[in-house]
Amino acid sequence: MLTGRSPSTPFDDRARPDVAVVGAGPIGLAIAWRCAARGLRVVVHDPAPGSGASAVAAGMLSPVAEAYFGERELTGLLLASAARWPAFADELTEASGAELGYRTEGTLIVGSTGDDLAEARRLWAYQQGLGLPVTPLRPTELRDREPALAPRVRGGALAPTDHQVDPRLLVPALRTAAQRAGAVPVPQAVRALSEVDARVTVVAAGCGAAALTGLPVRPVKGQILRLRAPGGATPGFRHVIRGYADGEQVYLVPRADGEVVLGATVEERSDTTVTAGAVLRLLRAGVDLLPELAEYDLVETVAGLRPGTPDNAPILGPIPGRPDVLAATGHHRHGIVLTPVTADLIADLVTSGVADPLLTPFHPGRFVAAGPESGNAAGPGTRGSAGRGAGPGAAEVGGPDRTTEEDRWS
Ligand SMILES: Cc1cc2nc3c(=O)[nH]c(=O)nc-3n(C[C@H](O)[C@H](O)[C@H](O)COP(=O)(O)OP(=O)(O)OC[C@H]3O[C@@H](n4cnc5c(N)ncnc54)[C@H](O)[C@@H]3O)c2cc1C
Repeated sequence: MLTGRSPSTPFDDRARPDVAVVGAGPIGLAIAWRCAARGLRVVVHDPAPGSGASAVAAGMLSPVAEAYFGERELTGLLLASAARWPAFADELTEASGAELGYRTEGTLIVGSTGDDLAEARRLWAYQQGLGLPVTPLRPTELRDREPALAPRVRGGALAPTDHQVDPRLLVPALRTAAQRAGAVPVPQAVRALSEVDARVTVVAAGCGAAALTGLPVRPVKGQILRLRAPGGATPGFRHVIRGYADGEQVYLVPRADGEVVLGATVEERSDTTVTAGAVLRLLRAGVDLLPELAEYDLVETVAGLRPGTPDNAPILGPIPGRPDVLAATGHHRHGIVLTPVTADLIADLVTSGVADPLLTPFHPGRFVAAGPESGNAAGPGTRGSAGRGAGPGAAEVGGPDRTTEEDRWS
């Protein structure tokens, strides 16, 4: 158990840190903020803060629309984190003095063809069976909410509690809040955990966690576009729109400053090149759903690497054989929505030494055959699972070689 200093006691700069966080993405920074706010002496190692997956992420906070078959425990964690988002956003805005682009208009899930709608309805039925708020809408109700939808959109549903935040505002806000709380940035990469000298080390390095811990975190490429409404206007729609369009699945996230994020591919690749085919398919599906997008400026095409795991769920907790090393990685498609709960539960674990039961299904031990001594011996095998298995092959949006149906979103 680690206890913080009293507010009147200054840090001794030469003292060993209580907590060293490796990685200054949303996960590492939020953990650093929470730990520093509890009075712990915290350092955060990262040569390029905010340069990982969060730099391209859409920022959907979608526990309901992303409640997929076979992922009950992950859905529980997503819901727990989404429930924390309103207070987390308020607190972070207060602590950083920065806007986050947090918006609560909700999410519309729409389908173009009969087949698209049939596929969507199968998932809504599952989500409703879990008691989640997803309400089918008639076409007129859909158009009352979003008149800009294409006439060929045949139906949809509303997930009112699925919100959004802008990750490009979130991460700088977290940096400010963490530093104001006393966390100290160390602008260097950690090449091995033996380089880190702290009472507790938290590995929150996204895809970089694999090299440091041996845990099975792999890059999952996502290509994504940013468009801008012409003439500085705001987009002609307010909800996040997740659409099935002729078998393709895309999402559209409108920002108050006129930006629209259109994404994304899901590919078992580790490069970050942008391909013409992916841009074509994303744009075609996006314009099919919202014709006005054809008039928008295409301002950015980019690809990022999600930190994926064999069961698509994060890896949270002490690495077997290394109780002083906590993993907080593998957040895959959900690292933005999972930021509040991850930060709270890991900070609780650091300060109390007791793991919240919510963490149990996400323990690193599910991937570790035997307790390693070095912190670099986690194997690729799985023991137990917090979600479904990931598919093997490459998978672009709507591509013939995409993996599981669930892997097409975000
Ligand atoms: C196209 C796309 C769309 C997405 N959309 C969404 C979405 O809508 N909603 C959602 O919830 N999630 C989304 N995600 C997923 C989300 O971006 C990630 O889950 C999240 O960024 C993970 O956060 P992280 O802090 O663990 O890792 P990252 O954001 O990847 O940050 C890792 C940090 O660790 C640092 N680092 C790495 N190795 C080392 C090392 N050895 N030493 C020091 N520092 C190191 C890196 O420089 C980086 O700053 C999306 C991702 C992509 C690619």
